[in-house]
Amino acid sequence: MRLPRQMTLELTAKCNFRCPYCYCASRSMRQSAGAELRADEWKAILDRCAADAVEDVLFSGGEALLRPDLLEIVDHARRVLPAARLALFTNASRLTEQLILRFRRMRVHLATSLQGLAAYGAMTGTRRGSDRLLRMIARASELKWPMAVSMTITSANADEAADMFAAAALMGASTIQIGPVMAEGRALEHLELMVSRRKWAEVKSRIRALPDAGVPYSFCDEFICTCRDDLPAALRRRWRDPRRQPCAAGRDFGVIGPDGRYRICLHAH
Ligand code: SF4
Repeated sequence: MRLPRQMTLELTAKCNFRCPYCYCASRSMRQSAGAELRADEWKAILDRCAADAVEDVLFSGGEALLRPDLLEIVDHARRVLPAARLALFTNASRLTEQLILRFRRMRVHLATSLQGLAAYGAMTGTRRGSDRLLRMIARASELKWPMAVSMTITSANADEAADMFAAAALMGASTIQIGPVMAEGRALEHLELMVSRRKWAEVKSRIRALPDAGVPYSFCDEFICTCRDDLPAALRRRWRDPRRQPCAAGRDFGVIGPDGRYRICLHAH
C-alpha cells in the first residue's frame, strides 16, 4: 500500500490536558496508547513517507511536545522530506519562544487550539486560563512564524465563540478553523457539550458579522462523517447530514497512531 500524500503522525496518546471532548479518548487511541513507538521507529516511518512521496506531515498527539525526543524526530523528517510541508499540532502549554524559533528554522508550521476564553479551564480540564496561549499566539506572530488556530465549539463556549475568534485574530493567528464538537472520544461521555444545528448556525453568523481582521478562516461542517458507523442510532439520526458525500479519508490522507497502526482518518478505528 502506498501512503496518501497527507499524513498525520500521532506521536503520543499522552497529554497534560483533559479536554472533555478529546478524540484521543476514542477506542483506537486507547488501544494504541500503551505501545508508543520509539524515535527510531518513527524515523523508519518517515523514511517510508519519503519513499511514498508524502507531501504533508502533521505531527500531533496527544500532546507531541511531551515527547523528549520530538525534535530528533522532526529533524529527521526535515532531512528525509526536504520539500514537504511539516506541521506540529500542540496545545502550546510547553511551547516557548526558543521552540518557536527552532521550528521556524526547520520550517515546521505550528497549529494550536483555543478552547475558550472564560471557558478555557473547563474546556481543557485544567485550572489554566487562556492568557498564556494567547500570548504564545501573539509571540509566534511577532517572530514571523504565526500559528494556525482551531476552535471547537461546544455548548460551554458557543456564546463566547465570536470573542474567541476576535482574540485569535488580534493575536495574529495565520488562519482560524472553527468546527462544532464531534460526538466521539471523550465527547461521548459529555453529549451535553454538543451544540444544536441552530446554535452552530448562530455562531457562524456572529463570526461572519465581525469586522474583517484579514485572517483567513473556515468552518468545518462535518458534524458526523458518513463513515462513522459506531455512533448511537439516536445521535446518528440527530446529526447525520444526508447531503454529505463520502470524504477522501484513506485516499488523500491517513493517520498513523502512537503504536504505529495505520487508520484512514483521525476518527476511524
Ligand atoms: S489538548 Fe488535545 S490531546 Fe490534549 S486532551 Fe485536549 S484535545 Fe486531547
